[in-house]
Amino acid sequence: MLLSVDDAQAAILQTIAPLSSETVALASALGRVLFAAVATDRDLPPFDNSSMDGFAVQAADVAMLPAVLPVVGVVPAGVAPTAPLQPGTALRIMTGAWVPLGCDLVVPFEDTDDRAPTSLRAEGRVQIFQAGAPGANIRRAGDEVRAHAEVVPAWTPIGAGAIGVLATVGASRVQVFRRPKVAVLSTGDELVEVDEQPGPGQIRNGNSYAQAAQVREAGGEVLQLAIARDTEAAVREQLEHGRAWGADVFVSSGGVSVGDYDVVKTVVQELGTLDLWRVRMKPGKPLAFGHLWGTPFLGLPGNPVSAMITFELFARPLLRKLGGFQTLHRPTIQTRLATAVQRADRRQFVRVQLQYAAGAWTATLTGNQGSGMFSSMLRADGLAVIPEGDGLVAAGDLVDVLLLRWPEP
Ligand code: AMP
Ligand code: MG
Repeated sequence: MLLSVDDAQAAILQTIAPLSSETVALASALGRVLFAAVATDRDLPPFDNSSMDGFAVQAADVAMLPAVLPVVGVVPAGVAPTAPLQPGTALRIMTGAWVPLGCDLVVPFEDTDDRAPTSLRAEGRVQIFQAGAPGANIRRAGDEVRAHAEVVPAWTPIGAGAIGVLATVGASRVQVFRRPKVAVLSTGDELVEVDEQPGPGQIRNGNSYAQAAQVREAGGEVLQLAIARDTEAAVREQLEHGRAWGADVFVSSGGVSVGDYDVVKTVVQELGTLDLWRVRMKPGKPLAFGHLWGTPFLGLPGNPVSAMITFELFARPLLRKLGGFQTLHRPTIQTRLATAVQRADRRQFVRVQLQYAAGAWTATLTGNQGSGMFSSMLRADGLAVIPEGDGLVAAGDLVDVLLLRWPEP
């Protein structure tokens, strides 16, 4: 079947629903998606507190400036004040300390003589030069969030900010979507493991490592299966290992083309269901999608760059959807293309480096774009999308770039 990139993405994603949830320690929730909303157990902030180191006073006592007040005590952070502030007096108060009753204003040390050589401190008094309006430098209880209100909604991707908020409200364990478990299979009689010396006609199994890394970047857990030789028995044996491990997804590379030894498709067709697609993209076709023992199976092309790019476009959104993410696709920015590219009847995904200068982004090709050239991915900040069609995308024309990472300067 000949499909557009968009139709192939849609066909895959419509079969996928988010995985179940699990409860994990807060520190290991980073990179997950929150399953159930979390409410705060108390007001935030939990009590009126000072936002400055300074003096707790009554605004009426500093209406006329400068003012001199006796300093009758100190309120450190971490204690509840035992008595209200008496009119006509000041208390030293520290940042985060509970503001005593009667105090409606905090005057920072900087606005007093506290640190000056001529200070009245030895006499137990303070001179105040400046003061804010009533309420200044006081953070009121519940200003940020009221007790029992939702603070982190369900479906929130958990970054450092969310971790901090969850910790603040006492969520030491949180319910998150499960990480998809992905069994990664590489097939080919020519492949040897990464720590082996390739013999004549052999190459190292680069794909398995690239796809394993892509799985982790997409928030999944990986099982790297051993290389399967180009026999049905070998492919089946490795897939069985993935099944026993509890894979939520199978991702393979190689063996789904029209070569004499492309046995992956045969095995999956025997054990489950498989559609073989030719997707109108370059690099990338062929692509296989189906189900094995009820588990999604994605068969990527063997060429390393094709495998990585088809992973980006089809496997990554699938894994993100399983993991509960609602944003499935990479962000896109518009850039100027540094060099002309010939359009084709297939959508091209061209590896580019991005530069920012004079308020605009420019995308420069990372060199040879052959689908076997792994190194073209090495420097790629993104994939420039060259739309299907005739003629050229000229140098200086605007193109969309899928951002793979934020460019290093
Ligand atoms: P295939 O789709 O199996 O015909 O493979 C297409 C091309 O990709 C061939 O040049 C393979 O040698 C290469 N290839 C397949 N699998 C891998 C792999 N795991 N690592 C690196 N290259 C591979
Ligand atoms: Mg092969």
